[in-house]
Amino acid sequence: MRSSLIKLPHSVIVKSSGLLPMHYTVHELAKEIDAVERTLRDWLSNSAPHLKDATGRIWIHGREFADWVNRVKKPGSKQKAMKENEGYCMHCRSHVEMLATSTRHIRGKLTMTSGTCSQCGRIIHRGGRTPTNSAPSQQGVPNHSHE
Ligand SMILES: [Zn+2]
Repeated sequence: MRSSLIKLPHSVIVKSSGLLPMHYTVHELAKEIDAVERTLRDWLSNSAPHLKDATGRIWIHGREFADWVNRVKKPGSKQKAMKENEGYCMHCRSHVEMLATSTRHIRGKLTMTSGTCSQCGRIIHRGGRTPTNSAPSQQGVPNHSHE
């Protein structure tokens, strides 16, 4: 199982979200998501969800496949989400606690959190995203939202 090595073309990621909750044959699915049939079979033999009927024909459920694409598309997705006060220190080459953090709003939903590394004291910047549906719980964050 080397599912982490699967590279999904961007078009597949985009098109799989439009798959229907029905079963596709390999041929049909390959056409739907603009993939090469052989590549698709590789994914199926790797970790993509599918089922085989009595005649050996392979069926892929559109929504299950889309879910699988969502799980696979980010190679870094097995990383745990960092806590609010954690960042990656380039100097220590590891995730460290950030001290004296401050978050500022960049544009749209993008934010930048700055703080100092708890281990070496260097400044760490960490890009972030404002969660779409969470209660505003940032303390002491200058939030100039006059838009
Ligand atoms: Zn450090």
